[in-house]
This record gives sequence, C-alpha cells and structure tokens, in this order.
Amino acid sequence: MTVAVPDVPLAQMDAGDPELLARLLGVVEEVARAGAFTHGRYVDAFEASFAAFCEAEHAVGVSSGTAALAMALRALGVGAGDEVIVPANSFIATAEAVSAVGAVPRFVDVDADTHLVTAADVAPAIGPRTRAVIPVHLFGATVDLDPIVALARRAGIAVVEDACQAHGARYHGRRAGTIGDAGCFSFYPAKNLGAWGDAGAVVTRDAEVADRVRLLRSHGERPRYHHRVIGSTDRLDGLQAAILDAKLPDLEDRTRERQRLAGVLRARLADTGLDLPALPGPGGDHVFHLLVVRTGDRDGLRAHLQARGIASGIHYPTPIHRTPAYAALAGGVHLPVAERLAEEICTLPLFPGMTHHQLGRVIGAVHDWTDTQAQAAA
Ligand SMILES: *Cc1c(COP(=O)(O)O)cnc(C)c1O
Repeated sequence: MTVAVPDVPLAQMDAGDPELLARLLGVVEEVARAGAFTHGRYVDAFEASFAAFCEAEHAVGVSSGTAALAMALRALGVGAGDEVIVPANSFIATAEAVSAVGAVPRFVDVDADTHLVTAADVAPAIGPRTRAVIPVHLFGATVDLDPIVALARRAGIAVVEDACQAHGARYHGRRAGTIGDAGCFSFYPAKNLGAWGDAGAVVTRDAEVADRVRLLRSHGERPRYHHRVIGSTDRLDGLQAAILDAKLPDLEDRTRERQRLAGVLRARLADTGLDLPALPGPGGDHVFHLLVVRTGDRDGLRAHLQARGIASGIHYPTPIHRTPAYAALAGGVHLPVAERLAEEICTLPLFPGMTHHQLGRVIGAVHDWTDTQAQAAA
C-alpha cells in the first residue's frame, strides 16, 4: 500500500507562495552581493525592527531559540548548581537551554484546560536553589504571567519567557516576551515568523542583559579578539536577518489570518465532542502557532485524517520529564496532566494561505470521524 502525500499539509513553507519566494530570493542576492554575512547592517536593521515590533527596548539576534534561552539565562546569572523551573509540556529546547548553562531543570505540570503553566504549578517548586522560571507561551497562547512574575519577585528569581511560538501575542496590552526579565524567540522556518534556517532573538528592557547577550553570542569579544567572557558562535546570520526583516511587515496580517482560521475551526469543531483547549483568560491572547485538539482516541483520529489526505501532528509525543534524555534527571516525577495530554493531543493543519477548500476538508473529515465514533457507541 502506498501512503498518499497529504493534500492538506500541517503548515506551509515560503516556497508555497511564489510572490514571497521571488521577493526573498531577491533579498538573498542583495546580501550575497554586499557580503554582509555576519554582524553588519542587515542584523542591525532586523534587530531595530523586531524591537519596535515587540515594543521592547532591546532585541539581540542570535542563532536559534534554544541559544536565545541559554544566553538569556546566562546573562541573568544562571549557571552551575542553579535550578530553573520548566513546564513539562513544552518542546525539549526549553529544558536543554537550562542544561546548556550547567543548571538543572525542575519540571512542573500544567493546567488541564489551557495546557499552560500557572503560578499554582510554579509556587511549590521554588526552593533554595531556584534562580529562574521559564513560562512557555505554548502553541501561541499567552501564559497568565502577572501571578508568576509576582511570585518570582517575592522569591527573588528571574522570569525568562519562552515566546518561541508566540510572536506578536499580547498580554494585557504588552507583547509576549517583554513582560519578564527577558523574552526568547525562535525563527525556525515553521514558526510564525520563520527564517530560511535557524535563527532566534532575545528581547529585554534591561540594557545590561542585552549587552551580555551581545558579548556571549560572539566569543565574548569586544573589540575584535579582545575576549572578555567565554562565549560561542551564536550570532544571527546576515542572510537570516535580511529574510526576517523582509517578512516582518506581513506578520501582523498573517497572525490575524491564523486567528481567523482558528476561530472558524474551533467554532465548527465545537459540537464534535473533541476537547478544545481553553483560550487564555482576560488580557490574554492566542496567535495560533498550532491548533491543538484533544481526544481519547487520538491515534484513531490521525489515521482517519491521513487516509483522507490530511496531515496532523503531535506536539509533543513525550513530556520532557519522560524523554530518555531527561528521565533519569527527573527521577520518576509524576506530572499527570502533561503525561495525559501527550497521549490525547492532536495538532490540526492551520497556516496563513490555507484555502477555504482545505479548511472545509479538515472540518468535514473530523465530523465524519466523530459521527462514526458516535454511531459505534450507540
Ligand atoms: C522552537 C522552540 C524552541 C527552540 O527554538 P529553536 O530555534 O528550534 O532552537 C524553544 N521553545 C519552544 C517552545 C519552541 O517551540
């Protein structure tokens, strides 16, 4: 049996939009002719536009979202022997960044309705070695940050927002990533703002944190060959910066399109019996990096969709504390919500440029499946 290529993909890369592709190829040629591959004007220009977009004082371009998290932690003084609180329901990079600076992630559970970390999850995990907490705006939904920031201030620990899936989301009027001590973004190609390779940024209102990240991303040097701290090669490339700067003006419209499509999908799936995650409460926002639904027969739903040419995904199949990479360190800690979500969640296709026809096919296929389930149960 041959497996058909899905007619409705999970997401769409830039090559799916011929006008955008041509424009970005022009940008690549311009950067190549200028030879401005590291540092320089394209990086400076994107940092200025991304800081303006985020309404943040500083944005520092770096090599990936994982590097952004690690350098933000280091810039805030987190290192060997420290503990950092991390929600188990996230991409593994949130924990890897903690490990990369020599600290230890302390995994906590998430809310069963929103799938996001809350102050109630964080509070009991704060101990004498805790130096920071990383709230993750997962799927593009904003974490309720005010109670977490208040808790962190009382405990004297830093708040590093993982906004890698939440470009442009607002929380009580402010952009995700600008509320804690530092905010970290990924521009991995599939993210809401995607490069043509790996890229990331740290945003902060703290000039000292921004300055430390600038040092760390490029061998701790200032000026050239004067190495003040042990850094690395974690700069944002000029090519990626120029591509991101060319795409940034469209991000707000593309976000609105994601929100519109998600609104239609959620409304049309409301009567199917599928469980839709609760939207963030008052003051919160959702930029729908991913649209996730939940069902006890997740694998059945995915097989049904696949047979109809519709892609789906699982974000993520294993909570971080149960991955082989972290299981020993996590020491058998039981985080029931994150563990259950991993077995029941399914990501449906959602992307700017998704056609009315594609949307209808997803809705129709899910309805077919839930109707069949209801008949079988009757
Ligand atoms: C993508 C992502 C990261 C890591 O970003 P990279 O650019 O892939 O290193 C971190 N956290 C979350 C929640 C992500 O989605």
